[in-house]
Amino acid sequence: MHELPVTQEMFSLVMKYAEENNAKKINSVSLKIGSLSTIIPENVKFYFEILSKNTIAERAELIFEKEKSKAYCINCKEDFEIEDLDLVCKKCGKENVFIRPDTGFIVKSITID
Ligand SMILES: [Zn+2]
Repeated sequence: MHELPVTQEMFSLVMKYAEENNAKKINSVSLKIGSLSTIIPENVKFYFEILSKNTIAERAELIFEKEKSKAYCINCKEDFEIEDLDLVCKKCGKENVFIRPDTGFIVKSITID
């Protein structure tokens, strides 16, 4: 269950944001999940419910958005979308690519009261 550490991280980020903005309640959190990410939304929801108990984030709605992961080709100096771990650049056919680190699991937006 590797969702626990990422959910904890996400939760502390959400709480920090709420504190900085003097929120009384957190209504929803939009999350982006890359297509190569192995994060399971149901597990994130499960852990979030536990972590947010008796906090202003209790009952906040989690909105998950799937997004295609991106890789970067060193040869073409361009980003391209990837759907699996077939790391060959669609443009030049070379394998000089690496996966963008920001394609995993990120908080996109938070709505508060
Ligand atoms: Zn290329």
